[in-house]
Amino acid sequence: MRLRQLEIALQGLDGFPAPRPALEQYTTPAPLAARLLFLAAGHGEIEGRTVLDLGSGTGVLACGAALLGAASVTGVEADAGAIAVAEANAERLGVDVEWVEGDVGDLPEPVRSRVYDTVVMNPPFGAQVRHADRPFVDAAIAHGRTIYSLFNGGTLPFLARYIAGRGEVLETVSARLALPHSMGHHRKETVEIPVECVRIRSLVV
Ligand code: SAH
Repeated sequence: MRLRQLEIALQGLDGFPAPRPALEQYTTPAPLAARLLFLAAGHGEIEGRTVLDLGSGTGVLACGAALLGAASVTGVEADAGAIAVAEANAERLGVDVEWVEGDVGDLPEPVRSRVYDTVVMNPPFGAQVRHADRPFVDAAIAHGRTIYSLFNGGTLPFLARYIAGRGEVLETVSARLALPHSMGHHRKETVEIPVECVRIRSLVV
């Protein structure tokens, strides 16, 4: 599947019906989701691999990984309402994803005792709850060999320090993310923020 085909497939999926700001719920825009997934696919880390999506939301990254031929895809998400949307999205695309309701900071079985080839995620950036991204980074490094994640552009030096000894940043690709006005506290229609697609190797699994 080509990048543009993946974008179009993901573009048609449903997003959060009523985004909850405290959970930093926003759907990764299809072009950005496709870029993150193609970065991983280009390294041979999607097709035939076991993939874990942390904070899978309405399932854009998980469904995209499945479309690109992952051997298995698991999505962990705290919000049951988001999982219901994700299930419908996966069904519409005809892909198979295992959805697990749970907290990334306290992973339920069977995810808790598994290691995955690849983790993909768009974690909370910590705009609402300080350091809300940390449980995501911790879980990703503990359960994935290679991690592909979006981060707020400015936070890379902190990330490198936070994961020192546990993970290693291999590559970063700059992008921009338009946050929609659905996040009620934003006054403008959309805010564009610089983000980084980051490839991390776990040093602990
Ligand atoms: N991966 C989706 C959603 C990103 S938004 C996408 O790319 O479109 C971040 C998601 O993480 C939201 O769905 C939110 O409900 C979820 N989330 C936030 N904190 C969480 C936690 N501690 N455990 C599990 N999910 C969490």
